[in-house]
Amino acid sequence: MSRMSAFRFSALALLLLSAYCWADSEVESSAENDSQDLSVSELLERANRHRIGSDDEPILTEGDIALGSEAERNADPCTSQGCKWGKASDGKVYVPYYITNHFSSREKAIIVRGLESFSSFSCIRFRPTQSSDRDWLSIESQNGCYSFVGRRGGKQVVSLARSGCLYHGTVQHELLHALGFNHEQTRSDRDNHIQVLLQNVQSGMEHNFRKIATLNQGSPYDYNSVMQYHKYAFSKNNQPTMLPIPNPNVSFGNAKEMSRNDIARLNTLYKC
Ligand SMILES: [Zn+2]
Repeated sequence: MSRMSAFRFSALALLLLSAYCWADSEVESSAENDSQDLSVSELLERANRHRIGSDDEPILTEGDIALGSEAERNADPCTSQGCKWGKASDGKVYVPYYITNHFSSREKAIIVRGLESFSSFSCIRFRPTQSSDRDWLSIESQNGCYSFVGRRGGKQVVSLARSGCLYHGTVQHELLHALGFNHEQTRSDRDNHIQVLLQNVQSGMEHNFRKIATLNQGSPYDYNSVMQYHKYAFSKNNQPTMLPIPNPNVSFGNAKEMSRNDIARLNTLYKC
């Protein structure tokens, strides 16, 4: 073997090896995920599309945000009530959770992975409930994927339906709601970044595109946020319901997990 072909051979071997490693880790991270081509936004819409809530479940808005009553639809309860989770003396924000026995051990592992991901990039520490906890998340498989925005006081349900909601990014998305975050397209400054085309929105779904007096904390509008819905969300005619400004061809709403901005603004909000 000449020196050149030896080089080629080892380069090829290296390439194959790295491709193998890459494929292996891909398989691992998507083992939970038979829909790995779908963004969080698409997964949520699919999971909640034909959702029929039961009488004891909350009203939903924007697809997956639970409301205590109809009246809250136009106000962000967080801004008036202070819905952040408290910080402990060690600088960590402990958020108690309880996972109901609705889930298989594999499903539970997806949820725990989502909960624990926050420890790796923020001061948020989801931890199992203790008897002294007043406020806590009850993670259940109800009808669809949904969460309240921010800490509500007492038990609050985060629904991750076994069919459709158990993906890493979807878990992160619902937990971000529980931590106080709204959808990206409802940001107070969204009109500078997204043009909403109400004429393409299903009738009765217009409220999903209302603006909220969000606290943006100087963070940039993020098309790659896990909280950004996709171009055709709630479309009645397969035409886009949102277009980016100024270039309508820029893609957005494709996130599969929290973006760098999602992480940065979480750390800003909780002063991690
Ligand atoms: Zn949501």
